[in-house]
Amino acid sequence: MAARARSTVLTGARVVLPTGIVDGGRVIVEGGRIAGAAPDDAVRIDLTGHWLVPGFVDLHNHGGGGASFTSGSVDDVLRGIRTHREHGTTTLVASAVTGEMDFLAQRAGVLSELVEQGELAGIHFEGPFISPCRKGAHSEGLLRDPDPAEVRKLLDAARGTARMMTLAPELPGGTDSVRLLVEHGVIAAIGHTDATYEQTVEAIDAGASVATHLFNAMPPLGHRMPGPIAALLEDERVTVELINDGTHLHPAALELAFHRAGADRVAFITDAMDAAGFGDGRYQLGPLAVDVEGGVARLAEGGSIAGSTLTLDTAFQRAATVDRLPVDDIVRAISANPARLLGVYDRVGSLEPGKDADAVVLDADFGLKGVLHKGAWLIDPRVG
Ligand SMILES: [Zn+2]
Repeated sequence: MAARARSTVLTGARVVLPTGIVDGGRVIVEGGRIAGAAPDDAVRIDLTGHWLVPGFVDLHNHGGGGASFTSGSVDDVLRGIRTHREHGTTTLVASAVTGEMDFLAQRAGVLSELVEQGELAGIHFEGPFISPCRKGAHSEGLLRDPDPAEVRKLLDAARGTARMMTLAPELPGGTDSVRLLVEHGVIAAIGHTDATYEQTVEAIDAGASVATHLFNAMPPLGHRMPGPIAALLEDERVTVELINDGTHLHPAALELAFHRAGADRVAFITDAMDAAGFGDGRYQLGPLAVDVEGGVARLAEGGSIAGSTLTLDTAFQRAATVDRLPVDDIVRAISANPARLLGVYDRVGSLEPGKDADAVVLDADFGLKGVLHKGAWLIDPRVG
C-alpha cells in the first residue's frame, strides 16, 4: 500500500551514508525527497534493528513479474518495473535483447516514453552488435557487425533516452561505434565479445567504460591470453557489471573482481528476464524460448544460461551473507556506482538531503522489509 505522509522521520536504523555507517541515524522524508530538518509534527517510524540503505539502481534488466521489456505492452513493462521496485530497485534501465533493427527502433520508441515519464532511467541495447562466438541467449541470425550508421539509427529512435549499448569491439566498425556512442553521451559497454586483451584496451581507450556482466559471454581469463577480463578489471576508467545470483559467477570469481576493481568500480546488476519475481515455467527472451527451472533460466534449445531471475534485494543479501562483503561496499556497487554512471547521482544513489526519498529497509539478516519510492512506501516496514 502506497502511503505518503507529509513529513516522516526514520529513526533507529543503521543508516548507510556515503561517509560511512551511522548507528541510530535519522533520515527525514518530506514531499518525496530527503530533507535536512524535520518539523515537530513529523511522523516517526522506529527502524531499530534494521538497515536503511539507498534504493537500488539496476543498469541491466530485461524484465520481471512475467513481463518482458523487449516485447511486452506498456502495461506489461510497467508491471515489470513495479515488480523490481518491490524488490528495492527504485531506478531501473530497461535492456532490450537482440532483434531486427526495425523492431528495436520501434521498441526504443515505446520505452523512451516510459523514460520521459520517469518510470525508467534509460534504455540499454544489448545487441545486435555482438559476437556470434559469444552470443549467449541472443538470436545468432539477427546479430550484425557494429555499423556506426546503424548504431546511430537506434540512438535516434530512442530520442535521447538510450543510456548504454553493449557491443563486441573486435568486430568491424566496433571502435568507431564506441566513439560514436561516447560522442552522444551513451555508455559504450563491452560484452558478448571475443576480443583479445589488446582489442579490449583499444576499445577502452576509445571510450568504452562498462563491462557487460564481466566473466559471462566473454573468453575466460588465461595466463598467456588474459583476454577482456584482465583489461576490464585493471583499467580505472571501467565499471564492471556482476550478476551475483550464485549461478552466473562462482563466489571466488566475484571476490576476484571485487578486489581487483575495488568497490567503486563494481555494479551489481540482475540481467533479469520475465521470470524474476514471478516463477518457473516457459518464457520468451526476444525470439528465443527459455525454460526456467529452480529459478535458473536456460535456452530451451542448447541450454545456454538466458539471463537471470535475480532481483537486487537477493543480490544484496547474497553479497552480505555468502560473499561477506562490507555493507557499505555493497551499497556502492548496488546504488551509488550505477547512479554515477547513469549521471543521476545528484538525484538518487545515496541517502542525502535533496535527493529522491528512495530507500530500502533490511532486517538484521538482510531480508527486505521496506521499500520507499519517492517518499511513498511500496513495502511498508510497519506491516508484517
Ligand atoms: Zn542482458
